[in-house]
Amino acid sequence: MFSQFALHERLLKAVAELKFVEPTPVQAAAIPLALQGRDLRVTAQTGSGKTAAFVLPMLNRLVDLKQKRVEIRALVLLPTRELAQQTLKEVERFSQFTFIKAGLITGGEDFKEQAAMLRKVPDVLIGTPGRLLEQLNAGNLHLEHVQVIVLDEADRMLDMGFAEDVERLCNECPNREQTMLFSATTGGAGLRDMIGKVLKTPEHLMLNSVSQLAEGTRQQIITADHNQHKEQIVQWLLQNETYDKAIIFTNTRVMADRIYGHLVAKDYKAFVLHGDKDQKDRKLAIERLKQGGAKILVATDVAARGLDVDGLDLVINFDMPRSGDEYVHRIGRTGRAGNEGLAVSLICHGDWNLMSSIERYLKQTFERRVIKEVKGTYTGPKKVKASGKAAGVKKKKTDKKGDKKVAAKRKPTAKPKPNAPLASADGLAPLKRRKPAPAAE
Ligand code: AMP
Repeated sequence: MFSQFALHERLLKAVAELKFVEPTPVQAAAIPLALQGRDLRVTAQTGSGKTAAFVLPMLNRLVDLKQKRVEIRALVLLPTRELAQQTLKEVERFSQFTFIKAGLITGGEDFKEQAAMLRKVPDVLIGTPGRLLEQLNAGNLHLEHVQVIVLDEADRMLDMGFAEDVERLCNECPNREQTMLFSATTGGAGLRDMIGKVLKTPEHLMLNSVSQLAEGTRQQIITADHNQHKEQIVQWLLQNETYDKAIIFTNTRVMADRIYGHLVAKDYKAFVLHGDKDQKDRKLAIERLKQGGAKILVATDVAARGLDVDGLDLVINFDMPRSGDEYVHRIGRTGRAGNEGLAVSLICHGDWNLMSSIERYLKQTFERRVIKEVKGTYTGPKKVKASGKAAGVKKKKTDKKGDKKVAAKRKPTAKPKPNAPLASADGLAPLKRRKPAPAAE
C-alpha cells in the first residue's frame, strides 16, 4: 500500500485518485530510500513504474516549501521529447493537489515561449539536455537552487551522445542534495563513468534482472525468406492477432516509411515515428495512438524510446534489434504494469545469429512459431554435424589411399556452425561481425 510510505497527504491523495493501490517492485524499493535523501542508481526497465518511484519523493521534498515558484528546485533530464512530455504529465498528475508547478523544455518547441515559461520559474523543470543547455547558454536558465536531479533513461542519454551535456547541467547545480539515476540496462563504461562523476555513494537497486523481462509478454520468432515475406507476415499478424494497439520496429527510417506506406495503402490506421519527422508529427502520432485513432505505430528505436501507451500489446520486430539491451527496450513497450503482451521477431537468414545471441544474453529461448498461411522456406540454420570429427571420419573411410596421415593433415572441410556464438554477455558483440547498418535515427 502506498500509505506505508512517509509521503505527504496531498501526494497520497493523488496516488489514490490515480487508483494506484500496490506499489510496483521498483517503487517499493526506491521510494523509502529516496525519501531519506539518498543518491540512487536504479536499474529498471520502462514500464516498471519507475517514473512514480522518483516523482513522488521529489515532490514530497517540495510540497512543504514556503515560497513556491521563485527558484527551480528539481531538474529531471530525459533523452527524448516524448519521454519528457510523458514525465511532465506524470508530475502534473501527482502534484494536482499541491501548488507545485512543473515546466517542460525540449527541442522542437518555440525557444522564446520556453524562455517566457522560465521567467515564471517552475518548481520542477523537465527536459532534454540539448535544449536545456541552449536555454542555459542564452542566460534564461538558472539552476543554482536545484536540490534534486533525476537522470532518467541515463543509458539512453549516453547512447544519444548527451554525456557531456548531462555532466555540464549537473555541474550547474552545485547545491543539489540528491541525485537519482535510472537506466533500463546496467550500461557500460560510459555509464559507470557518469555514475562516478554525478552520484555520491549511491545505493544501487537492481530491479531489472533479464529474467524479469516483461513477464507478461510472450516472445516468439517467425522465420522469413526476405523482407517482402516479412511484410506478408506482418499483414497476417495484424489481421489475425487479437490486439488493442501494435508497434512495428524497424532499424531504419527507410524501412519504417516503406511499411507505413503499405499499411496505409491497405487502409490500416497507422502512424510512423522516426527521426525525420518533425515535432508536430511526432506529437500527433502519439496522441492518436493514445486516443485510439490509430492502432498501429511503425517506429525506429530512438523515436519510440520511453513511449508509454496504454493497451500496446503487440510488438513486431520487423528487423531484429542490434543488441540485447535494445531488445529489452523494445519489448518493454508491451506487458506494462502487469498487462499481457505478445512480441514477435521476424527472422531472415541474416538475422539468425543476432537473434540467437540475444537469446543467450537473455538466457531465454523464444517460442518458434510457424504460420501455415504464410510459411516460407527458410526455417533457421541447417543442423551441422560436429565439425572435425564427422567430416574427418567420413573422409578417412573413403580415402582410397587409406593413408591415415594424409587424412589427418587434411584441412577440416566442415564449415563453421552458422549459429556459432557471436555475443558476449553484454549482447553487443554481434556488431563486430555484422556489416555496418544504416543509422536508425
Ligand atoms: P513507468 O514505468 O513509470 O513508465 O510506468 C508504466 C505505467 O504503469 C504508467 O502508465 C503508470 O501510470 C503505471 N503505474 C506505475 N505505477 C503503478 C502502480 N503502482 N499501480 C498502477 N499503475 C502504475
